[in-house]
Amino acid sequence: MDNDVSTTPRALATEAVHAGREDLAALGLHAPPLDLSTTYPSYDTRAEAARIDEFAGTGARPDGPPVYARLDNPTTARFEDALARLEGTESAVAFASGMAALTAVLLVRASLGLRHVVAVRPLYGCSDHLLTAGLLGTEVTWTDPAGVAEAIRPDTGLVMVETPANPTLAEVDIEALAHSCGSVPLLVDNTFATPVLQQPVRHGARIVLHSATKYLGGHGDVLGGVVACDEEFARALRQVRFATGGVLHPLAGYLLLRGLSTLPVRVRAASATAAELVRRLSADPRVARVHYPRIGGAMIAFEVYGDPHAVTAGVRLITPAVSLGSVDTLIQHPASISHRIVAEGDRRAAGVSEQLLRMSVGLEDVEDLWRDLTQALSAPSGRSARPAVDGSPVPRPAVR
Ligand SMILES: *Cc1c(COP(=O)(O)O)cnc(C)c1O
Repeated sequence: MDNDVSTTPRALATEAVHAGREDLAALGLHAPPLDLSTTYPSYDTRAEAARIDEFAGTGARPDGPPVYARLDNPTTARFEDALARLEGTESAVAFASGMAALTAVLLVRASLGLRHVVAVRPLYGCSDHLLTAGLLGTEVTWTDPAGVAEAIRPDTGLVMVETPANPTLAEVDIEALAHSCGSVPLLVDNTFATPVLQQPVRHGARIVLHSATKYLGGHGDVLGGVVACDEEFARALRQVRFATGGVLHPLAGYLLLRGLSTLPVRVRAASATAAELVRRLSADPRVARVHYPRIGGAMIAFEVYGDPHAVTAGVRLITPAVSLGSVDTLIQHPASISHRIVAEGDRRAAGVSEQLLRMSVGLEDVEDLWRDLTQALSAPSGRSARPAVDGSPVPRPAVR
């Protein structure tokens, strides 16, 4: 039966609004329930002991109530199920932030004695820092995609890449890289592309990482991270999450599940606006170079001839702020902010120049964005870095 609704694979846009919610109608609910419990009652201590043993031994999600909120949470589990469906993986495990998620991945591998990581720059500034500083007892070899196979050692536990990368939007051929990794798991940070534009597991990655703070949440009001992977790796991640405590708050899980439902619409709309801004920036004599990935997306990077600090000081509709993936447009100077923690030489070698600006395009009207951007590009350098808050007039774009 080719029209059986229960077996026909569904499109991403459909999964985005239904995954993780299939049981709701039978429960007599429409919105997902938010479970804020930190503990769960049980009058049968022997049964609880068996459930704790089962989790400690396998890392499988507990059947029924989670015993304690650090093991599992039903609301967060809905977000995890939905994200796994969108990424095409068996499982997903959510964390308090993207950095907590990366930490758990590194600890899972290091706990097996596989402390060496091969990574390709650029990565998000804090990911670069976590690996370079060796805070978790790991050691990193930086290389380009062509050097990965040669950099792998017997104690290599992970190959890590971002594509498109933060902040230069450099792209890596995931399939070719996965081939170079052999049996070493390849982690792709898919924060910028989202599963709407790219599902790395379909190209041979084993682990997909998201800063859920960005597009998955989508409204700039939730901090979270998530790892999409096979159930075997997910079990090890749940055990590390239980032991180290980097759990996602259930309210954040609720908001991230809500964010997923509009993810395809948001990403497609913002990407169309970004593509138009790229066209205009590329033709602008004040702009030296525009970086925009082949797969598209709502992130733009560009290098200006003038003072990049004058541009971030000059925007009035666009918000000068770090982070990305929100409904409104943000611009920032990576060398000063998102990648400040990376040593200057390493930053430059990875293509993060002093002239580079990174913009996360939101859902505003393209003409309003262009008007703001073009006036900011003409802003004289040395202009006040902040709009006045003392009652003196602030230049504002006319509201149409
Ligand atoms: C922001 C970001 C992270 C870190 O995520 P947090 O949620 O801020 O901890 C990791 N990777 C990329 C690509 C990011 O943009």
